[in-house]
Amino acid sequence: MNIHEYQAKELLAKYGVGISAGIPALTVEEAVAAAKQLPGPLYVVKAQIHAGGRGKGKFKELGPDAKGGVRLAKSVEEVEAFAKEMLGNTLVTIQTGDAGKQVNRLYVTDGVDIDKEYYFSMLVDRKTGRVAMIVSTEGGMDIEEVAHSTPEKITTVTIDPAEGFKPHHGRAVAFALKLTGDLNKQAQKLSKQIYEAFIAMDCDMLEINPLVESKASDSKPAELLVLDTKMSFDSNALFRHPDIFALRDETEEDPAEIEASKYDLAYIKLDGDIGCMVNGAGLAMATMDIIKLNGMFPANFLDVGGGATTEKVTAAFKIILADPNVKGILVNIFGGIMRCDVIAEGIVAAAKDVNLSVPLVVRLEGTNVEKGKEILGNSGLAIVPANDLGDAAKKIVAEVQKVA
Ligand code: GDP
Ligand code: MG
Repeated sequence: MNIHEYQAKELLAKYGVGISAGIPALTVEEAVAAAKQLPGPLYVVKAQIHAGGRGKGKFKELGPDAKGGVRLAKSVEEVEAFAKEMLGNTLVTIQTGDAGKQVNRLYVTDGVDIDKEYYFSMLVDRKTGRVAMIVSTEGGMDIEEVAHSTPEKITTVTIDPAEGFKPHHGRAVAFALKLTGDLNKQAQKLSKQIYEAFIAMDCDMLEINPLVESKASDSKPAELLVLDTKMSFDSNALFRHPDIFALRDETEEDPAEIEASKYDLAYIKLDGDIGCMVNGAGLAMATMDIIKLNGMFPANFLDVGGGATTEKVTAAFKIILADPNVKGILVNIFGGIMRCDVIAEGIVAAAKDVNLSVPLVVRLEGTNVEKGKEILGNSGLAIVPANDLGDAAKKIVAEVQKVA
């Protein structure tokens, strides 16, 4: 699960991390009120969408010369003008795809006088089975590009969670960022706070880009502040964090994936033409592979799970069919815990319910398979039975091409 920048910053602040002050706003009036509460004279108006690259993004409705989704404002009036331009409009960034995302929330922040921008992220490294901090002096820009052209400017500090965060990890981070004196100490402290936040909240990714060093003034020494952050959480651990789960913004998610999650279905929308309904993640992936091997592409990944009911299968069917790209459906079920007759009943009920208009190939194997085949055979529906996975893939591709 992902959350918005302002939510992530508020969470980090609870762990003592320095952030630039800010207030979220849903309307122009709220944005103006927010700016008035901030010290000024520099403000930043930031579009809150679950995608990065907002600064360089473009609003569909505003033309190519308009400013992007992160704007520096020098007065409350300018904050108001920017809020009017941004709210309700569609921001397209390198991460949103061509469709872009509608901006429904803004974050009005205190503008920081920046001396230097750094990169700091933390993730679960599956290769080492540990967590890693990835830092670079090259912040604010596309980190993939830095990794590609100047990999020596990126440092990875690996931490064994069984051992926990130790002072030497903090020193390694501060050293990699080439910080000295008080800023070096701040970086060590920040690393520890970020580590604690990451572990305590069961994050699977936390990216701060940029982490900035503010310009020192007579009244204030330079400090390290989080200016932008992205945070995502391990979905399997969310039950432990109802407060974080409450931050979910469903308007940022794919409607089909939201519907699927209501039925506890693991569904991910893809770009192809063949809808897949499978039980077990491994079998689902094998099914997608074999569709590709036969020359077409899967429209989705869908694991209906072990304990599916007729209701669940019906929901899965409707979700697959709601995708206008779907030209045919391949059902591939191995009835281990799941019984084939339950699946068959679900398929028949759903197919009748939605007036199935695309070819349907079903491969059933396992518990009560004969009963399942009987239910499908007697349904009066044009269901094409298949004997094994290879046969099923060949048949669905042939059926779809016959129609086309
Ligand atoms: P992103 O484009 O979605 O990654 O949004 P960011 O929050 O990272 O903002 C993009 C860029 O805007 C940053 O890299 C900064 O250069 C600039 N920016 C954001 N906030 C401030 C600020 O408070 N002061 C100044 N001077 N620049 C800022
Ligand atoms: Mg950024």
